[in-house]
Amino acid sequence: QAHSTRLYTEEDPVVILNSESLKRSVVNSSSAWLIQFYSSWCGHCIQYSPTWKALAGDVKDWAQAIHIGVLDCAVEKNFDICKEFGIHFYPTFRYFKAHDITNEFGKTYQGADRELQTVRQLMVNFIQNHTRKAWPTNCPPLDPIRSEHIFSLMGRKAEHYTAVIIEDGDSYIGREVILDLMPFEGLAVKRALSSDKHLMEKLGIITVPSVYLFYPNGTHSIMNVQKRLRFFFSSFLKLLPGVHRKQSTSSLQQPQLGKSGQGTQVEWKEFQKSKVYMADLESGLHYLLRVELATHKTLEGEELKTIKDFVTVVAKLFPGQQSVVKLLETLLEWLVSLPLEKIPYDAILDLVNNKMRISGLYLSDHVQWVGCQGSSMALRGYPCSLWTLFHVLTVQAASRLDALANTGFEDDPLAVLQTMRRYIGTFFGCQECGKHFEEMAQESLNQVKTVDEAVLWLWRKHNQVNARLMGSMSEDPAFPKTQWPTPDLCSTCHEEEEGLHVWNEQMVLAFLKQHYGASNISPKYSS
Ligand code: FAD
Repeated sequence: QAHSTRLYTEEDPVVILNSESLKRSVVNSSSAWLIQFYSSWCGHCIQYSPTWKALAGDVKDWAQAIHIGVLDCAVEKNFDICKEFGIHFYPTFRYFKAHDITNEFGKTYQGADRELQTVRQLMVNFIQNHTRKAWPTNCPPLDPIRSEHIFSLMGRKAEHYTAVIIEDGDSYIGREVILDLMPFEGLAVKRALSSDKHLMEKLGIITVPSVYLFYPNGTHSIMNVQKRLRFFFSSFLKLLPGVHRKQSTSSLQQPQLGKSGQGTQVEWKEFQKSKVYMADLESGLHYLLRVELATHKTLEGEELKTIKDFVTVVAKLFPGQQSVVKLLETLLEWLVSLPLEKIPYDAILDLVNNKMRISGLYLSDHVQWVGCQGSSMALRGYPCSLWTLFHVLTVQAASRLDALANTGFEDDPLAVLQTMRRYIGTFFGCQECGKHFEEMAQESLNQVKTVDEAVLWLWRKHNQVNARLMGSMSEDPAFPKTQWPTPDLCSTCHEEEEGLHVWNEQMVLAFLKQHYGASNISPKYSS
């Protein structure tokens, strides 16, 4: 039987190994490895692949301590290596220690329990089983620290935070959080045991697990989180001001995004993460209409249709100031009424810049990023405002069901997403981004049947992009890519099921409608 579909692809967070790369990767490696030898025709392996992918995604940040890999023994060129490694059954799980040149074939995991949480805990044990001399190169210590060490931190200034997780002896959370934070700088994570009564008393800890935080300025306190779960602890620590993901030097994808700052960004503007800023939406529209579209000398055919539909959707759904909405409506009327098949872009610019201004219709003509400001000019800005705009529009479409009446889009739950898809594919300056977005749309957009599902689809896909861009060049170190909304914004959005983080999508939907709803858009800094 031919195997046309592969169980694992480059998109998955696992390392795909083959006969050439296997030994080179695992023998004398700076990290440990856990590898699943599978066969793509084996039913068990197929059923197990979602768990393996979920596990690999869950421990992606542990890679410098332990890598997760797969090798397909059903591929002809791997026949010999699987024989050499003595793989008789599928799947076979093998561990390989770091800095080991003696056990080149690794050790087999014999246990019958392959639940995600069990395997994750095994990985922690396995890392801990390394001798100090052969410890994975970049892995921090995992043993509990002594209370004297903790007391010595009190009142002492430091260059970074120290977080101490206090937990019971059989808890894995401390070690998991230490590993989760491994690729981050600005913070050291340690663990201590609740059996130390003196420590518990002195820190005032009643419930475990708890995180006690020592700040760089010498102060210290218990960290408040809504749920005592690994994901909450890790998320809060990653979000501390000054804690950043270390910039990787070998970023894989870094498509060039057009410079969108236009040199006007000078002063840092205070803003709240829990708000959406009209200034970002207006700056985004300004950039889109006056800069991005202006690179097209004329608009015709599909391009013209795309722009008409885009202006239709925005004019009907944009929850902005009267003067901006009116400007969009006038632009729309004008585009629709023109009998031309081909419109010189200058005419649109002239309309937006001059003619409408005479009648008091006005779209700010300078860029003012607020929630979208970046720590440098090339970061965030326009692409951030585009995401924000489309999230706002999907939420508007879901809350004002008659807004698109008589536009040809009425009763179409995909109105906003299809318009976005076409805009991004046709005009968005970052072509790679457009390609990726199109792939995601082709894969699953047809499953969206309601306006609520459209809101969630865009959220899910945006998170997929965030996951892909983690640690890449387009990540602003001051605004690390995360799975959003983080628990500080919406704690009820997050849950844990059998040790794995899961979203409560109903809560996410409610949160998105609130966050991107008209009443959460702040007019601050908007002209
Ligand atoms: P952004 O990702 O731009 O997010 C803006 C804001 O939206 C965040 O600050 C947060 O408040 C909120 N947010 C974050 N996640 C979610 C979510 N899941 N749901 C709802 N709100 C959320 N760059 C690349 O390098 N490669 C690509 O392939 C790529 N594809 C892109 C595709 C599209 C359609 C767009 C619009 C942009 C793409 N970009 C890509 C740019 C990239 O996604 C970011 O926009 C850019 O790096 C700026 O990041 P940011 O930190 O401002 O956050």
